[in-house]
Amino acid sequence: MTLRQAQDDLASARLLIVGPQGSGKGTQGIRVAEALNIPVVSTGDIFRANIKEGTELGQKVTAILDAGDLVPDELTSEIVRDRLSQDDAQGGFLLDGYPRNTAQVHHLDAFLGEHDASLDAVILLDVPRAESIARLSLRAVEQGRSDDTDEAIAHRLDIYEHETAPIISVYEERGIVDRIDGVGSLDEITARISAALAARGIAQLV
Ligand code: AMP
Repeated sequence: MTLRQAQDDLASARLLIVGPQGSGKGTQGIRVAEALNIPVVSTGDIFRANIKEGTELGQKVTAILDAGDLVPDELTSEIVRDRLSQDDAQGGFLLDGYPRNTAQVHHLDAFLGEHDASLDAVILLDVPRAESIARLSLRAVEQGRSDDTDEAIAHRLDIYEHETAPIISVYEERGIVDRIDGVGSLDEITARISAALAARGIAQLV
């Protein structure tokens, strides 16, 4: 492979990071995206920014986020479609928090298919439920996120297990899942992700 090809491959990394709430996917996603110079597309961040700014979308989704429920698929998928159509996402992107169920996988497949594209790798951060709950409870104290109440945390983890975990088998069948042990220091986990992506020829991050 020539350097030029390697750069082209690098520039077109289309990634998804997935894991239960509290798995550290937000933090790791930012690290990976910065190293690859691609934008993070986080549906949770998009919703929270809209709530903060009091937009029409924000007003529509406030109660849903507070309860820890999922925003309707059509609405979420339309937002992701718009975001991925922007210029800065043409050279690749890292999705965080979308797709979150199989219906959203189909929406994403349809969108990427229209652009002759597909995901290059799915980074799955493996963290035991007890560890996720401990980390989320700590974040509730530190950041005061309104959906980090005990009830909403348990509800979100249930939704993850029932609705989001099944998408992993869909991507496993496509051979693009890298299962990463999400317990350890931030640097250790980033190094594991880096090694997995490097093995796919995507990039050595650190
Ligand atoms: P997150 O920051 O990814 O944990 O997302 C926070 C909240 O935003 C979730 O609990 C949902 O209410 C909503 N949300 C984020 N991504 C999605 C999605 N792909 N589908 C539906 N709802 C979502």
